Amino acid sequence: MPHVITQSCCSDGSCVYACPVNCIHPSPDEPGFATAEMLHIDPVACVDCGACVTACPVGAISPDTKLDDGQQVFVELNAAFYPKREGKLPPTSKLAPVAEAPAVRPRTGGPLVVAVVGSGPAAMYAADELLTQEGVRVNVFEKLPTPYGLVRAGVAPDHQSTKRVTGLFDRIARQRGFTFYLNVEVGHHLSLAELAEHHHAVLYAVGAPTDRRLDVEGMELPGTHTATEMVAWINGHPDYVDLPVDLSAEGVVVIGNGNVALDVARILTTDPDALARTDVSDRALEALRDSRVREVVVAARRGPAASAFTLPELIGLTTTQEVVLSAEDHELVRRDLSTEGDALTRNKLEVLAKLGDSAAPIGRPRIRLVYGLTPKRVLGQDRVAGVAFTVTGTDEVREVGAGMVLTSIGYRGKPIRDLPFDEDTAVVPNDGGRVVGRPGVYVAGWIKRGPTGFIGTNKSCAAETVHNLVADYNAGLLADPIGRASAMEKLVRARQPDVVDAAGWRAIDHAEIGRGGPDRPRDKFTEVSDMLAAAATAPAPSLGQRLLSGLRL
Ligand code: NAP
Repeated sequence: MPHVITQSCCSDGSCVYACPVNCIHPSPDEPGFATAEMLHIDPVACVDCGACVTACPVGAISPDTKLDDGQQVFVELNAAFYPKREGKLPPTSKLAPVAEAPAVRPRTGGPLVVAVVGSGPAAMYAADELLTQEGVRVNVFEKLPTPYGLVRAGVAPDHQSTKRVTGLFDRIARQRGFTFYLNVEVGHHLSLAELAEHHHAVLYAVGAPTDRRLDVEGMELPGTHTATEMVAWINGHPDYVDLPVDLSAEGVVVIGNGNVALDVARILTTDPDALARTDVSDRALEALRDSRVREVVVAARRGPAASAFTLPELIGLTTTQEVVLSAEDHELVRRDLSTEGDALTRNKLEVLAKLGDSAAPIGRPRIRLVYGLTPKRVLGQDRVAGVAFTVTGTDEVREVGAGMVLTSIGYRGKPIRDLPFDEDTAVVPNDGGRVVGRPGVYVAGWIKRGPTGFIGTNKSCAAETVHNLVADYNAGLLADPIGRASAMEKLVRARQPDVVDAAGWRAIDHAEIGRGGPDRPRDKFTEVSDMLAAAATAPAPSLGQRLLSGLRL
């Protein structure tokens, strides 16, 4: 009964270190880990102990006997990663331990204190890595009253198992030395200079909050949005809850075919009754119930072998949705299959080759994948009517009608006040997370390396930054903060009286879970004022907690 890794694998590698026989690969110390679409359990070497199940933060691992029909394909996918062998392998030794941060050398004048800006996966993994060391303190600043960034507002609501990683983040936030300053915007309420004065180091993990823009005529027409805005709207992000999403037309075009494109295409074609059992925003659910969308066309400028979506997501999509290809695109798949040598890409092509034909009449709302179309112009007078594409590499124009056009061509980092910014790559120039020309300032996650990878990819990314930060601290390169922690606390409260702390977040969390009732994981607040009202119901700290915190200050 070997264990099997399934669709929601986040690649954070926790399972690898939990495994006593080193049967999960690629491991973080192996080539290919950074670009792997998922990790794989060797069915021959697995000893079925289940340690990986406990370690996995997103519930992606099960014994093969507990997989549902849609997950059976992952048995073969895990096994196919390994060479074929006969018999049972003897257990191998445990993997070498993760490279640990250099030990923080105690200094007179107080512990290492780090400000982390942002509270998404990179921020939380960075805080966790810092807090592995005795005495270190981490203050996490987040502009919304709710933490966890794209896990809350970017992961599609029907991927609840991926959202389970928030359980890990909650545990990190409960560690001694961790403090949340939610609803506090760095760059608005506090400057970088002020944070730097009160901490040894400032670590930005603010992600890539905007989208790459498609530079074609017609993008300003009503009915065009970016897929990431749509995902934020579906997830009830307070800044996007009023997005004017009009689902009254039967056709939608999504430009780009990465995992975000698949997420929006899937949500737009899912039965709203199924979505009603998730934490989808109420406003979005209402619009989706009234939707007249029948077909979502996901358009890629290159061919099937260059599809940007990952194999696990494609498998997940095809087990729940009706996904079709035209005869012409089926031909492109066959052409790529005849020449493709890479095993992973061949797997994707084989899934595509089994898809239905788009000539069949449309039954339930469906997704059509199209290839080799480069967007030329968004069509329409007063609002979107479709997209004119050229067949890539030719002048031949093809028009696809649509009442809504979503561009899904990748996220993009935003310049941060007082820090350098590389416009081409949209990241803060850095060397292993050390911001170039700004001693004491660090980056992790998408603002460090660009918008690629999965939630868990941020774990090794953040660890690299933290290791360099600690090395700089030990080398005496980071100046001690001015004043005590109480001065920092006072400054924050003076600038933002509505700051939300960990107890406030727990109160919001409990209120949302309660509102969700028995059938939904939670019913999210989508207005900041409602979040603050819920946070205000948090019980006041006990006398003991106040005394302890007074001692810390
Ligand atoms: P992405 O994977 O980078 O895909 C971008 C897509 O946009 C590609 O198809 C790309 O085509 C296309 N594109 C770029 N410029 C274009 C242009 N000018 N015209 C037409 N098409 C253009 O981006 P993403 O989907 O936003 O995902 C970002 C990251 O988050 C990825 O690493 C993704 O795997 C991850 N993610 C993971 C999950 C999950 O695991 N479930 C969910 C969501 C996101 P070319 O390839 O031809 O450039």
